[in-house]
Amino acid sequence: MQDVIIIGAGPVGLYLAKRLEKRLRVLVIEEDKNIGKPVHCSGLVSKNLFRFVKQDRAWIEHEVNGALIHAPNGKKLRLKKRNVYVINRAGFDKHLANQISSRIMKNTRAKRISIKDTVKVETNKGVYESRILVGCDGSNSMVARHFNAKPRETMNGIIAITRERNHDDFVELWFDKRVTDGVLWKIPRGRKTEYGGMGNNLKFNALKEFFGLKDFEKRAGRIPMGPPKTYFNHCLLVGDAAAQIKPWSGGGLVYGLTCADIAAENITKAFKRNDFSESFLKRYEQEWKKRIGGRIKAGMLARGMLKRMNNAQISLALSSANRVRFLMNKLDMDYLVK
Ligand SMILES: Cc1cc2nc3c(=O)[nH]c(=O)nc-3n(C[C@H](O)[C@H](O)[C@H](O)COP(=O)(O)OP(=O)(O)OC[C@H]3O[C@@H](n4cnc5c(N)ncnc54)[C@H](O)[C@@H]3O)c2cc1C
Repeated sequence: MQDVIIIGAGPVGLYLAKRLEKRLRVLVIEEDKNIGKPVHCSGLVSKNLFRFVKQDRAWIEHEVNGALIHAPNGKKLRLKKRNVYVINRAGFDKHLANQISSRIMKNTRAKRISIKDTVKVETNKGVYESRILVGCDGSNSMVARHFNAKPRETMNGIIAITRERNHDDFVELWFDKRVTDGVLWKIPRGRKTEYGGMGNNLKFNALKEFFGLKDFEKRAGRIPMGPPKTYFNHCLLVGDAAAQIKPWSGGGLVYGLTCADIAAENITKAFKRNDFSESFLKRYEQEWKKRIGGRIKAGMLARGMLKRMNNAQISLALSSANRVRFLMNKLDMDYLVK
């Protein structure tokens, strides 16, 4: 019997295992054969990432210091954001996996869970038991489904990687309702260029046409937004499984790791008190909401507005934003209070 089973060896599950394994027996279950693959993430992060994982040139592809935003009417808004990094997600995930000593069972798919005084996880390789289960199993979380915990919305995230070398110092963003109800982007990756976008029903054909793309490598994933309930008897949801994502950008790495820290503290307390009840584990959700809940709520409001606006209204909103860009330049990409 394990103390904790974590389903999902993505960055959030691996980081959580590292936080817990000093005091508890941890088993990580991962359905894929290789850690970090397939990649379905741009890996654009602020320097806040290095609060959790020491910066390492091995998985940093490029650094940018701003964003150029294109309004539907062709006007441009330039924002300064220093120290934003484009990381290689496969390399980052492998780096995290190399730092933990807990057992990671790859090629193992969690199929069903049952919870009484302990948790039983049925997989294609047998049944495993623990006191606590953590669902770090991403946007299509089977753990979240077990509790019928659904995010408010889930968008398509699609990426086309081309072989164009690109050492620009800024990312580019486009808003255009004719193409997507979300956003399109171009990210310089040093030896490559990434074209991507998110939105309901956004497809590769639309991306291809908008950017005039020919040869590219495809990557895609789902982006959940608007977190559901994240604590249950003997169980927590963390990361994309909990939709702990910034609704304005689809970025989830820094928020997932922030919540993994809070989960680790509360799981450790639950073992000290021998209390794995929903009423005790509720403090996990109260604490993560205190840290990032306000930003997520504001992001969901902005997302709702963007969905209702037409191109003329978006252009007007961006030209108003241009007038207060000195304030926007000062905003931290992730947190309200650092
Ligand atoms: C197109 C796109 C671009 C993005 N760009 C950015 C970005 O630039 N910056 C940023 O911060 N975030 C970005 N994100 C979001 C980011 O990828 C996620 O927030 C991050 O991967 C969340 O990590 P996680 O560990 O919670 O989930 P995941 O990385 O999804 O890991 C979940 C793991 O669980 C495993 N799993 C799932 N189900 C099971 C099961 N039943 N049994 C066993 N294992 C299972 C999966 O194989 C996977 O390894 C992007 C997302 C998309 C789709």
